[in-house]
Amino acid sequence: TRQVYTFGGGAKHDDPRAKDKVITGGKGSNLAEMAGIGLPVPPGFTITTEECVKYLAEGGDFSDALRADVAEALTHIEKTVGKSFGDTADPLLVSVRSGARVSMPGMMDTVLNLGLNDETVEGLAKVSGDDRFAWDSYRRFIQMYSDVVLGLDHGRFEEALEIVKEDNGFMNDVELSADDWRGIVTQYKAIVSEEQGKPFPQDVHEQLWGAIRAVFDSWDSDRAKVYRRLNDIPGDWGTAVNVQAMVFGNMGETSATGVAFTRDPATGDKAYYGEYLVNAQGEDVVAGIRTPQYLTKAAREASGATAPSMEEAMPKAYGELAAVFELLEKHYADMQDIEFTVQQGKLWMLQTRSGKRTAKAALKMAVEMVGEGLIDEATAIKRVDPMALDQLLHPTLDPEAPRDILAKGLPASPGAASGQIVLDADTAEKRNELGEAVILVRVETSPEDIHGMHAAKGILTARGGMTSHAAVVARGMGRPCVSGASGVSIDMKTRTLRIGYRELKEGDVITLDGATGEIMAGEVPTIEPELAGDFGTLMEWADKHRRMKVRANAETPTDCKMARQFGAEGVGLCRTEHMFFDAGRISAVRQMILAEDEAGRRAALEKLLPEQRADFHAIFDVMAGLPVTIRLLDPPLHEFLPQGEAEFAELSDAIGIGVDTLQRRAGELHELNPMLGHRGCRLGITFPEIYEMQARAIFEAACDVAEASGDAPVPEVMIPLVATRKELAILKKVVDETAAAVFAEKGRTLEYIVGTMIELPRAALMAGDIAQEARFFSFGTNDLTQTTLGVSRDDAGRFLSPYVEKGIYPRDPFVSLDVEGVGQLVELGAERGRTTRPDLKLGICGEHGGDPASIAFCEKVGLDYVSASPYRVPIARLAAAQAAL
Ligand code: PEP
Ligand code: MG
Repeated sequence: TRQVYTFGGGAKHDDPRAKDKVITGGKGSNLAEMAGIGLPVPPGFTITTEECVKYLAEGGDFSDALRADVAEALTHIEKTVGKSFGDTADPLLVSVRSGARVSMPGMMDTVLNLGLNDETVEGLAKVSGDDRFAWDSYRRFIQMYSDVVLGLDHGRFEEALEIVKEDNGFMNDVELSADDWRGIVTQYKAIVSEEQGKPFPQDVHEQLWGAIRAVFDSWDSDRAKVYRRLNDIPGDWGTAVNVQAMVFGNMGETSATGVAFTRDPATGDKAYYGEYLVNAQGEDVVAGIRTPQYLTKAAREASGATAPSMEEAMPKAYGELAAVFELLEKHYADMQDIEFTVQQGKLWMLQTRSGKRTAKAALKMAVEMVGEGLIDEATAIKRVDPMALDQLLHPTLDPEAPRDILAKGLPASPGAASGQIVLDADTAEKRNELGEAVILVRVETSPEDIHGMHAAKGILTARGGMTSHAAVVARGMGRPCVSGASGVSIDMKTRTLRIGYRELKEGDVITLDGATGEIMAGEVPTIEPELAGDFGTLMEWADKHRRMKVRANAETPTDCKMARQFGAEGVGLCRTEHMFFDAGRISAVRQMILAEDEAGRRAALEKLLPEQRADFHAIFDVMAGLPVTIRLLDPPLHEFLPQGEAEFAELSDAIGIGVDTLQRRAGELHELNPMLGHRGCRLGITFPEIYEMQARAIFEAACDVAEASGDAPVPEVMIPLVATRKELAILKKVVDETAAAVFAEKGRTLEYIVGTMIELPRAALMAGDIAQEARFFSFGTNDLTQTTLGVSRDDAGRFLSPYVEKGIYPRDPFVSLDVEGVGQLVELGAERGRTTRPDLKLGICGEHGGDPASIAFCEKVGLDYVSASPYRVPIARLAAAQAAL
């Protein structure tokens, strides 16, 4: 099989591997695809990801076979453009870029103008008739190559250039003459010799192989590894290398370079969106060194900018570009992110890929493209990342709240965030770990800042456009971002900054509005999100295509209301212990716990009954007509006890028992390992009157609501931490007898069922037996993970992340179900339970019920529903639909 594929210039594209991004990477496969549909793509070739994987594994040199294939592919480029690589009279120059299966910041990006040396630069000057262009290209090449291939610090190059500009009083790079650039090349070469102890490579083939090697090596760079970890990208994919004939956007005023999206990636509006720079090379746009101009006249006018748009300045090339946009959207049936260059009036396509987008844009585009007939509903459902919905479900700034606006930048990624200013990525990460909300403020960001961007609630940069690194990455991560805020200046020495007219320092609180670009002093209040519109439409489609039901974990009427708004079809877990902590009743709870005997406990439970009944009444009201799973008391009793002298004294006053007695009882309740101690159904076994009170409260409330509204809730009473059928049998009897008593008193009966959580390995193994007593199972995967892994869920935070970093677990098993291990118990429990009772209802209510990967697993093993926290309900609805498709 081939490891090098040519594209452009009449290259055949008949090998399916050439267009397979697994083999040739995202960039390479799309270049082959674009060339194949007749778009103007400069000729080039791609070395496969397989070759990268081999190179990294063997750590050796390149094979002769590869060298031969590359030489042949280079000839293809030479023949097509009529220039030779290394030719001193008319040299072929190439770009070298990485390109993994998915776009991945952190890897080596681009080397342009490769093939220039002290001799070929003279040839380029002659054939182009432009000395200045040739020497400017050469110095760019030395700088880029030194940075990304030789690994030299770019600071010294920038400094050298700054000094020349200062000495001559130049403001802009465009003011430098050919001789100025020639002088800079001399200086740059001297810096390289000094820094690496040998001269800048003059052999063009050595340059090319050095760049290829750098691309491969960058796959294993620290930055790339961090990015892969954050985005769940496997380390064994490897990257392809793309080598392509250069086209020049910096050949004068009829040349330009730009990046564009076929629709607005921030809002999803169907309008071309992008930026371009006249007389510039690609990296100038992305690096944010010069402020780019708008692509369309409409966008320029809307912004109030005066610099002409591409539509106005280069109407012919713009027209061609617009036609390409249309063609590409139809071809890929998705919004495209494009890089292009105009060389002396002629348009060239350098890249296309499905564009990153905000959640809002993803939704709008998915829905509108169905309307346009471009995609079907199923595709639309798959287009939206469920986790990205998180961005939409969270609050935005209250438009009524006063805003103390300090300055304005570009609205680079929507959403609102408040937090303390931090000025570097490491500090952002540290403060975030301490639980502080931070806003990362930088002049501009680079892939080295990724971990800090991830840790920050929002990102603010002084430089860079809408397609700058900060903007692209922030949108991908769902972080609000304001970029290119020229009113921001940072002094890293004193760690202070100026925003607009105000002096601020690290630690001061600011608020960003990523939808308007506003930067505000202090914290600005927020409002709830809008759930209609495109969101509603996509959710409707998701509901149509999913099989599993989605419920919410909720225990207050407020949470239940929110859950219903988000589309929950019932409550999957109401943790009743949360009701015990309520300030008004904690002393009755404590009195119950500390009671010496059953009579004492019953006296205290009398006081709690009306409170619990009111709790359930309120929940049943909100959840009218839907199933509500109520779990009886679970945690160890000592969790409710007073802490410290003062609380004991207070309790003593309230219930008239001496402090000494209280402390003795508290001592008796102390446990060495409470998570495996007297909790869950073990409480019910030893103190059945507690569960009896809770059951009474549930059925009385249910009867009352049925009486008042006629819309009877369906209570599902759930017994926690069951390990044996007998435990469940005993407690089910308590519930059933209580129900019968209440129904007799109330003179009505109600439908209800009793079931259990499966959250201990023994319960999963004995599920067939336990199902004799249970009408439903709800997998409590928090405890099931804890007990199967033997890892304490409360202490795991301290040591689990190195486990994930080392790949011992692919993801935090408390966040995403350990499908391989714990998953077996779920599958087996479900199977054995259903064998006993074919109509056994099966659900999950651990945290995993809101995690898309875990939801896909639940679909696979045939659960009936998942239950997640209210904000995760829409995520679960979409993920369940994706899992079913
Ligand atoms: C579980 O263990 O998964 C569960 C849902 O119960 P809790 O988190 O309350 O222990
Ligand atoms: Mg549990």
